[in-house]
Amino acid sequence: MVLFNQFCKINQEVLESKVMKVPSSLEIIQQDIKICKKCELCNTRNNAVPGIGDENADVVFIGEAPGKNEDLHGEPFIGTAGKRLDDALENAGLTRSSVYITNIVKCRPPNNRVPRKEISKNHGQIVYKNNRVYFISFHPAATIYNQKLLDVFKNDIKKLVNELQKIKNKN
Ligand code: SF4
Repeated sequence: MVLFNQFCKINQEVLESKVMKVPSSLEIIQQDIKICKKCELCNTRNNAVPGIGDENADVVFIGEAPGKNEDLHGEPFIGTAGKRLDDALENAGLTRSSVYITNIVKCRPPNNRVPRKEISKNHGQIVYKNNRVYFISFHPAATIYNQKLLDVFKNDIKKLVNELQKIKNKN
């Protein structure tokens, strides 16, 4: 009986060591961000917002900074704006889990300022730099305040997906 118990214990330890997942580099960075105190924004945030999605995604959406809801939940692009993004992704044949979503600044700046006008001027543009493709568009929250931007945003995402397909076809 003792031997049987020892056998079971050893087997369980082997099993646990096999199923214990080693964190990826991205997961380690995400954990670091959650406890980061490198700037004063850590004093006013509820949660740092590291990012979410497929870490091997072809497309990474990068917003400016977390908003109120994102700060409360620690997740980027949620609430109505997140739904607009999900709809635009679906419309272009993508899903939220197939892309990676994050922000440049990981903690909410108090009283977020409104986006700069340059985005309106340059949306839909594709920039090739250092072997990467950058695509400029509106934050989905902009479509809540200006309904006319909803179709523009959806078309931008479609354009992005078409461009991605062209790149894949070339390679
Ligand atoms: S904004 Fe960036 S640097 Fe500042 S506390 Fe948050 S994660 Fe750290």
